[in-house]
Amino acid sequence: MTDKIENWIDFDRYHLWHPYTSMTDPQPVFPVVAAEGVRLKLADGRELIDGMSSWWSAIHGYNHPCLNTAANQQLEKMAHVMFGGLTHPMAAKLGKLLVELTPEPLQHVFFCDSGSVSVEVAIKMAIQYWYVLGKPEKSRLLTIRNGYHGDTFGAMAVCDPVTGMHHIFSHLLPQHLFAAAPTCRTDDEWRDEDIADLRALVEQHHGEIAAVILEPIVQGAGGMRFYAPEYLRQVRQLCDQYDLLLIADEIATGFGRTGKLFACEHAGIFPDILCLGKALTGGYMTLAATLATSKIAAGLSSGDPGVFMHGPTFMANPLACAVACASIELLLEGDWQQRVKQIEAGLEAGLAPCRQLDSVAEVRVLGAIGVVEMLEPVDMHTIQPMFVEQGIWVRPFGKLVYVMPPFVMSPADLDILTARIHAVLKQYSSSS
Ligand SMILES: *Cc1c(COP(=O)(O)O)cnc(C)c1O
Repeated sequence: MTDKIENWIDFDRYHLWHPYTSMTDPQPVFPVVAAEGVRLKLADGRELIDGMSSWWSAIHGYNHPCLNTAANQQLEKMAHVMFGGLTHPMAAKLGKLLVELTPEPLQHVFFCDSGSVSVEVAIKMAIQYWYVLGKPEKSRLLTIRNGYHGDTFGAMAVCDPVTGMHHIFSHLLPQHLFAAAPTCRTDDEWRDEDIADLRALVEQHHGEIAAVILEPIVQGAGGMRFYAPEYLRQVRQLCDQYDLLLIADEIATGFGRTGKLFACEHAGIFPDILCLGKALTGGYMTLAATLATSKIAAGLSSGDPGVFMHGPTFMANPLACAVACASIELLLEGDWQQRVKQIEAGLEAGLAPCRQLDSVAEVRVLGAIGVVEMLEPVDMHTIQPMFVEQGIWVRPFGKLVYVMPPFVMSPADLDILTARIHAVLKQYSSSS
């Protein structure tokens, strides 16, 4: 048995790429053979408390009986069927849930395979909308620095040009407009100059801008920053005033993570186009959705070519839709607001001692997201095994040691998670 495990792990090491890794100098990867609740089981029998929800997605934890049942029941009927010219009950059911949960103007749903693709779809919708309306010159995007919207070409082009690490490809990317990122934090008093750069770009370029795209309230992989709802309200106003569409990328923030079902609710605004992914299926299957208002849907359908130009092979995959329906129902039936509040309080209390460490620049918490920002980027080869030895799964990047636990994490497990993060950072800081 050990032999076999070593074999597949070796195979992985020499043949499989992991996210953002080298094939010649691979980072250590830890073999997971099962997962249950908030615990990942490693091949050697160790268990890790999961702080990452597999990148925002596994909000109900792993191996959840309701989601398993939903997947199994759908599997008995059909795993997949093409969506061109055919439909199935789970697509309609999920579409209805999404239309009902999101603000009233968002009435039309495009299902796709991943978050990045949902961003591509959103960008294409915005550009095709203006094309059909006879304004093809409105084809650029305006976004804010520190953003992250995915790894495909269209999405890459609106990621932060510096932290996005995409400079190798930058000469191939459409040149979009980047405004300074907001500096007002969640509870800071609003400062008008925070929006000045974005406003100036809008005033100067609105004739060529199709849409503003941003992550509402929380900028995720581009820096784990939280910003003031007023900024979002002002962006919405500018979009209305200058006839720009607003694309909200809620792939990370959607489904309760920030304490609201969708982060736009913090500002009481709605976008023209909304991207959802990650927690959509509770982390079970890859599925994303792009929602559009009737204005956009009707507009882009109203003239040549008359159809929206996109249609992936696995569009609205029934297995994924079935699990997504079950995940959303599970979320809504539970006391998710209460749980997220409890996690927020637990992260706040548990991570506070990290503020005392010399190597730590800042600790910040919003909803079920906890961030310890270090002064220097952490050395992954050193720190990753330290977390695993402590029995927790935390995956830092750059200066950011952050967690977004499954909503089902108990207060006791959350205490263990945060105490061990502190222990690791203390040891790491004194050794480096
Ligand atoms: C993860 C993420 C994406 C990309 O989603 P993938 O499923 O990885 O393609 C896009 N936008 C945001 C805000 C994300 O967090």
